[in-house]
Amino acid sequence: MQDIPPIQIPAELLPSDGRFGSGPSKVRIDALRRLAETGSTFLGTSHRRPPVQSVVGRIRAGLAELFSLPAGYEVLAGNGGATAFWDAASCSLIETCSQHLVFGEFSARFAAVTQQAPHLQSPDLIESPPGTHPEPRANPEVDTYALTHNETSTGVMAPVRRPSSQGLVVVDATSAAGGLMVDPTQFDVYYFSPQKGFGSEGGIWLAACSPAAIERIGRLDRSRRWVPASLDLAIALEHSRLNQTYNTPALSSLWLLADQIEWFLASGGLDWASQRSRRSSEIVYDWAERTSFTTPFVSDPAARSRVVATIDLEGVSAEVLGAVLRANRIVDIESYRKLGRNQIRIGMFPAVDPPDIEALTTCIDYVAERL
Ligand SMILES: *Cc1c(COP(=O)(O)O)cnc(C)c1O
Repeated sequence: MQDIPPIQIPAELLPSDGRFGSGPSKVRIDALRRLAETGSTFLGTSHRRPPVQSVVGRIRAGLAELFSLPAGYEVLAGNGGATAFWDAASCSLIETCSQHLVFGEFSARFAAVTQQAPHLQSPDLIESPPGTHPEPRANPEVDTYALTHNETSTGVMAPVRRPSSQGLVVVDATSAAGGLMVDPTQFDVYYFSPQKGFGSEGGIWLAACSPAAIERIGRLDRSRRWVPASLDLAIALEHSRLNQTYNTPALSSLWLLADQIEWFLASGGLDWASQRSRRSSEIVYDWAERTSFTTPFVSDPAARSRVVATIDLEGVSAEVLGAVLRANRIVDIESYRKLGRNQIRIGMFPAVDPPDIEALTTCIDYVAERL
């Protein structure tokens, strides 16, 4: 890359917090302070004892309240993040055949798992070009529909709606959860890692599961299919009911997640949290549409993500812009590498203050004028 131009952004233009990544994303400083204040009472203690179990209990109850889960839905937790959940789902949730809507890196990765699983039929793949999303199609062969609420690599959000009265609807909500509204009657599993919309750390997954999903997890015949214990959702369910995980979780991730859920609930719930993202996204897309060198990558306004904005640049190098901003401590607006576009990507999760998003656009304008 060329040398980074020595542009210093005036302090009064800078956002109060310069973290705009799409994951890991901004962790609130006051949450970190409260975590530090737990001192010797939490970190470094057993995950099978009340201090940690009560935090897991708060997470499970808090998510049920946040997503208004109907009676009978349960929240499961396990290790390895959303990526490990794909492996677990292919081992102990999908019966024989899944349908995948493939429209970016993350949705493609789950599809690749089921394509390679020797015990499953080849999946039904419905693809669409980056920047758009496909529509699911009812298919009697399919027992599991894999949707992605927000494709983080391209900044596209897609509806969560049942395509059929048959089959489970399993939704990757890793970057959507907390930042987008969702109707729980439209899914059977809504799973995510907490380092995006929940402003926590990675390494664990959470999954809100319907009674039909729980029934499926229990019904799969394990005498006909080898299921490693760490990928067995029946074992995850059993431990989750005890407010534990099968093996040791990252306690800081759990703690920060509980703190964020309770921040949302105390402030007005999912409505409030998603409104913050909506406000931030209006600021970004309005700016991108009226500014000469920027264009929203996603042409359909209804598909433009409210949590991750992708903005194409013309005449300004996204790489140089990103480096100059980084030197001014505004970080992680680089686009998803494999998309290969002259683009920036902005995480607008609920923890990010909308005025900071406004300040970010001002800083980008300031730098662009001087490049
Ligand atoms: C980040 C992300 C993942 C992967 O999450 P990990 O915690 O790294 O496993 C999966 N799906 C989506 C939509 C994501 O944004």
